Amino acid sequence: MQSRSGATVYDVCIVGSGAGGGMAAHALTKAGARVALLEAGQMWDPIKDGAMLKWPYDSPRRGASTREKPFGEFDGCIGGWQIDGEPYTTAPGTRFDWWRARMLGGRTNHWGRISLRFGPYDFTRKSRDGLGDDWPITYDDVKPWYDEVDRLVGIFGSAEGLPNEPDGIFHPPPVPRCFERLASNAAKKLGLTVIPSRLSIITKPHNGRAPCHYCGQCNRGCMTHSNFSSTGVLIPPAMKTGRLTLVADAMAREVTVGRDGLANGVSYIDKKTGRDTHLSARIVVLAASACETARLLLNSKSSTFPNGLANSSGTVGKYLTDTTGTDVAGFIPKMMDMPPHNEDGVGGMHIYMPWWLDNSKLDFPRGYHIETWGGRGLPGAGFMGGIHRYPKGGGYGASLKDDYRRYYGSTIGFSGRGEMIPNGDSYCEIDPNVVDQYGIPVLRFHWKWTDAEYNQVKHMQETFRAIIAEMGGQVFSPMPTKEQGYGIANGGAIIHELGGARMGNNPKTSVVNANCQAHDVKNLFVTDGSPFVSQADKNPTWTILALSMRTSDFIARQRKTGAL
Ligand SMILES: Cc1cc2nc3c(=O)[nH]c(=O)nc-3n(C[C@H](O)[C@H](O)[C@H](O)COP(=O)(O)OP(=O)(O)OC[C@H]3O[C@@H](n4cnc5c(N)ncnc54)[C@H](O)[C@@H]3O)c2cc1C
Ligand code: SF4
Repeated sequence: MQSRSGATVYDVCIVGSGAGGGMAAHALTKAGARVALLEAGQMWDPIKDGAMLKWPYDSPRRGASTREKPFGEFDGCIGGWQIDGEPYTTAPGTRFDWWRARMLGGRTNHWGRISLRFGPYDFTRKSRDGLGDDWPITYDDVKPWYDEVDRLVGIFGSAEGLPNEPDGIFHPPPVPRCFERLASNAAKKLGLTVIPSRLSIITKPHNGRAPCHYCGQCNRGCMTHSNFSSTGVLIPPAMKTGRLTLVADAMAREVTVGRDGLANGVSYIDKKTGRDTHLSARIVVLAASACETARLLLNSKSSTFPNGLANSSGTVGKYLTDTTGTDVAGFIPKMMDMPPHNEDGVGGMHIYMPWWLDNSKLDFPRGYHIETWGGRGLPGAGFMGGIHRYPKGGGYGASLKDDYRRYYGSTIGFSGRGEMIPNGDSYCEIDPNVVDQYGIPVLRFHWKWTDAEYNQVKHMQETFRAIIAEMGGQVFSPMPTKEQGYGIANGGAIIHELGGARMGNNPKTSVVNANCQAHDVKNLFVTDGSPFVSQADKNPTWTILALSMRTSDFIARQRKTGAL
C-alpha cells in the first residue's frame, strides 16, 4: 500500500530487532502483517560473523577485551558501555552504566540465556508486602505466552514444582560439572535450594535447529542456532514470510503523529547517508530497549504531545530499575591438580539457586537468585584473574606454567541477582544540553540505591562467603564495608534495566495498558523491557519475549476486527 505521496505505508513499523522487536517481527509477519523493522545497528549473521570456533591464538590479542568489545574481542555483541558519537550523561552523584547493542538482534547475540519465568508472586508484590506496585496482569495471563515461547524457542530445565519459580516445557538439562557438584553440595548443606539451570539452549533437535554440541561459547553467537538469539531464531523465519522489510543502520529519532493524534510512522537517520528519512506505518511498535524507548518517546514532541509522546502521565522515563548484583570468587584447594577431564558444557551455568528464604525474618524485602561460575573453560587472555591471587602462585618460566596447570579449574564464583524496588530517585530524562552525533538529544540518568538493596547485597556477600568456606575454599577479596555499599554493582551494570514506560490500568500513573498499548495513542505499542512494573529477582528476557508475543497477538486481533 502507498501513501498519497507514493511512499510505502507498512502495516507495522518496529523499532529495534532485539528480544522484544525480533519477537514482534516474527509474530506479526506470521499473522499476515507487512512489517518494516528499523535497526540502529548493522546487519549480523551468527553463521558468517560469529567467532564460535575461534581459538585464542587465532588473534594476536588472544581474545582480550577492547573498548569496542569489553567482554572480549570474540564476544558476539557490537556495542558496549560507551558508543562513539552516542553519549549519555549522569546527574551529579549518580553512578549508572548503560550497555547498548548496535547490531541486528541487539543484546540477544551474546546474552547469558538464563531464561526464567516471573512467578505468580512477582506480578502482585505490592499486595504481598506493600512496596512498589502490582502489575495489571497476573501470572495466569502470561502463562500461555511463556508456554508458546518455550515451544518456539526451546529451553532446558527441570520440573521442580517450586511456588514462585514456575516450570516450563523443558528439554533435558545438562548434568552439573565438577565445580558445580561441589558448590551444590555445600549450598544444600547450608539450606539453599539448588536445581538444574534454565537456559534457552536446546539439547534435542528443535524446530529444524540442531541441538547444542557443548562448545561453551554461547556469548560469541551460536553458528548452529542451538541457543536463542533474535538473529538465529526469530528474524530468519520472519524473513521467509516475505513480509518483513529489514532496514539496518537506521537510527530512529522520533515517532511522528498525524493530525488525528495517532502515530503515522517513524523518522530515522539513515546512518550510511546521514539523511533524515521517514517511514510510514499504520501501527508503531517500540522495542529499542527500555531506556532507548523512553528516549524516543520523550524526543517525540509535537503540538499535540508537548511533553513527549504517550507521556500525559509524566511517567515516561520513571520507575526505572535494574537488578541488584554483587560477586564473590574464591579458590578451592580440593579442585587443584585435577587430572585433565572433560568439562564441556553449554556457555553458561548448569545449576541454579533460586531465592529460598522468608523475608519476614530478614532486613530487606524481596529476594535474589545465585549464579555459579568456574571450572575449566577455554583459557584466554586474563583467565584465572591473575595467578598471584593463588597461594604461592607466580614467578617465571616453567614454575609459572606449572602453577597455571595446578590451579587451572580451581576457581569458583557466585553472582547474586536480586530485586530492586522502584524509587523516585532512579529515572532517566532528556539532557537539555547534549545531543548525539545525529543531533538527537541524549538521556541523563539519575540513580539511588536504598537500604532495601544495600541490605540485600550484604546478605549475598555473606552467603557466598559461607558457601566458599563450606567448600573448604579461600575467598579472594575481603568483605566489602557498608561505606563500599557492600560491593553493590552500579545501577545499570547488571544490564537488566527495566521500566520507563510502565504498564497499568490508570493512565495518570502509567504509560501503557495491560496490552502494552499506549494509553494516549492507540496505535502505539511497546514490546521491550520498558512496560515492566517491577523487576523480580528473575532475569527479564523470557518475560520480554512472552509479553512481546502477547502484545503482537493483541495487535493481530485488533487488525482483524478493524480496530487498528
Ligand atoms: C552480557 C549480557 C548478558 C545478559 N544475560 C541475560 C540473561 O542471562 N538472561 C536475561 O534474561 N537477560 C540477560 N541480559 C539482558 C538481555 O540481553 C536483555 O534483557 C534483552 O536483550 C532486552 O531486549 P530488548 O529487545 O529490550 O533490547 P535489545 O536486545 O538491546 O535490542 C534493542 C535493539 O534496538 C536497537 N535500537 C536502539 N535504539 C534504537 C533506535 N533509536 N533506532 C533503531 N534501533 C534502535 C538496538 O540497536 C538493539 O539492536 C543480558 C545482557 C547482556 C548484555
Ligand atoms: S554451547 Fe551450545 S548453544 Fe552455546 S554456542 Fe556452543 S553449541 Fe551453541
